[in-house]
Amino acid sequence: MQAEQFTDQNFPELLRELLSKYYLHSKEVERELQESELKFKSLLEQLTDAIYFTSVDGQFLEYNRATVELLGYTREEMQDLNVAQTYVQPEDRIRFHERIMSDKEVVDYEIKLRKKNGELIDCLVTASLRMDPDGKVQGYQGIIRDITFRKKAEALQRAKDLAEQANKFKAEFLANMSHEIRTPINAIIGMVHLLHQTPLSEKQIEYLHAIDNSADNLLQLINDILDFSKIEAGKLQLEEKSFNIRIVIEQLVSTMRFKATEKGVDLVLQIDENVPPSVAGDPLRLNQIMLNLISNAIKFTHTGAISVTVKLIDILDDRARMYFNVRDTGIGIPPDRLGNIFESFTQANLDTTRIYGGTGLGLAIVKKLIDMLNGAIMVKSKLGEGSEFIFEIDFTITRDNPDLPLMEITEASVPDIGKCRLLIADDHPINQVVTSELLRHAWPDIQIEIAATGKEVLEKLDSAQFDMILMDVQMPEMNGLDATRTIRALTDSRANIPIVAFTAYATTGEVEKCLQAGMDDYISKPVVPALLCRKIYDQLVRSGYDFDAHGQQSGLAHQTVDLHYLNIMTADDQVLKAKMLQIMLDETPGELELLEKHLEAANWDGLRAVAHKMKSSVEFMGLKDTLDTLKTIEISAKERTGLDLLAPKINTVILTCRSALNSLRNELDKLQTS
Ligand code: ADP
Repeated sequence: MQAEQFTDQNFPELLRELLSKYYLHSKEVERELQESELKFKSLLEQLTDAIYFTSVDGQFLEYNRATVELLGYTREEMQDLNVAQTYVQPEDRIRFHERIMSDKEVVDYEIKLRKKNGELIDCLVTASLRMDPDGKVQGYQGIIRDITFRKKAEALQRAKDLAEQANKFKAEFLANMSHEIRTPINAIIGMVHLLHQTPLSEKQIEYLHAIDNSADNLLQLINDILDFSKIEAGKLQLEEKSFNIRIVIEQLVSTMRFKATEKGVDLVLQIDENVPPSVAGDPLRLNQIMLNLISNAIKFTHTGAISVTVKLIDILDDRARMYFNVRDTGIGIPPDRLGNIFESFTQANLDTTRIYGGTGLGLAIVKKLIDMLNGAIMVKSKLGEGSEFIFEIDFTITRDNPDLPLMEITEASVPDIGKCRLLIADDHPINQVVTSELLRHAWPDIQIEIAATGKEVLEKLDSAQFDMILMDVQMPEMNGLDATRTIRALTDSRANIPIVAFTAYATTGEVEKCLQAGMDDYISKPVVPALLCRKIYDQLVRSGYDFDAHGQQSGLAHQTVDLHYLNIMTADDQVLKAKMLQIMLDETPGELELLEKHLEAANWDGLRAVAHKMKSSVEFMGLKDTLDTLKTIEISAKERTGLDLLAPKINTVILTCRSALNSLRNELDKLQTS
């Protein structure tokens, strides 16, 4: 087909057709334009960032919904609004203006804007110039982002960081402080212990008791403050290990019974048969909770009884829910104080401190520990009738056999270690004296050398032989950890010498560090003398120390018969005295045999009866340590606690009594020949 030709006839028609096509096309373009503008506008409307166009003098020309919402004006009000009215600081706008004119754009410019209601908001503005085709500035276009929330979050985070840091400093400060305070208290308690061994008048004993009590209270206070601050700073780590709830509670109750008995108050323990023998958890913290509750019960009870009950409530899968109850017949807590008794520094009465001492931290610690263990505690109390603290904790049941007691014995005597060569490393002169005197008192033949730094320890090891080292951790020049590591790296037999650390309970993780450095055991300051002796003895046994070669005499050689008491009782009546000596000589050997027999047969009631009976003759013989040992045997047998420690205790009693019987025989011979 040929192309149409313009002719005079067809021109108007073609033109019309062309025009109409053009017209239709431009309509379409216009519609498309409108559509795209609509799309663009609705997109803008949906954006959460505020987008705006202004004139050169700052009048808002176009803006999306986010801008309206950001500034808080209505759309109509926005039409009359000038950017200048929204700036909090006019100079911000001047600077903005200078920058955009020189760089043609501004990116993330931080300003503070004021909303219609006066509220101030932090914003980031990214803006550029709007030019006409000739390059003439027509106004500005930009995006405003509201960062008020982000700024607040940042400020909060900063404050939180600062607070956490402050808390960390506080915890560290308290840890260091209490370490520093412990050192002199350690010295006081040690010296008091030594003074007690010397001849004293009644008045002096009384004064010494007062010093002892105050030092104990001070120590308790420091422990409480430290624990509390550690929990507050989130620094208290819970342990997770297998233990036997029954053993922990029985041991605790038996160590506290003396205190209750002293006040004439009964302390009764009831542990449900169903309590699982082995659970995973933190035995020390459970001990701490119960210790606090039972101490309070004893403290605030003057007559009647305290009952401690432990029961299994439920087992779900491998979790056992345990119930603990400490009930007393004491002074009770006023109803209006019951609500906040678990808050820190809270005491039920204003005069509590004056009458009973204390700080009001104990229950706060108990509550926090129980919270950490995901348990719950409650209290019931009636003024004048008594109080009852009940708590529940879940434990995971384990299959281990943790029958080792939590706490070592503290009262029993420890066999003699003869001429054991001990190296004490401690930079503190008073500690050096206290520790060595305590040990010399227990073991008169012990040979002690002192080193004040880790370096000195190494030098001494080079020049002499030792059987054991007691090592302080913090020492100048070279600390105990480095010294231990150096010793363990030696290539001769010295590398295996037993090392027991003195740790300051204050510093978290110190025990782990000691053990990691290669130490064998640790003892916390202030040192409990019997425990220190026990640990030394155990380590010597473990290391294969040759007791015979070191001139060990048949156990407790320094415990000699003292007939002073017998003389008083018999009022120097020689006949009566001889009679009594004869009775002791006749009966004691049989009793010693019975001790052994009952132990072997696990006849605890029989054992308790013999131990009880023997107490009076041992008292007549003046064997004070043996008397104490018999008391602990009697309690162990009665309560079936610490049974695994009975054998060494009975052994000690037998050795001591046999050597005492020889002295009694001599004494009787003397009497009969005179
Ligand atoms: P502290 O005994 O050191 O003052 P606690 O936090 O252990 O601190 O106890 C807070 C207070 O609660 C005590 O001062 C006492 O008033 C009261 N309280 C605690 N236990 C008992 C109890 N068993 N009987 C009576 N009052 C108690």
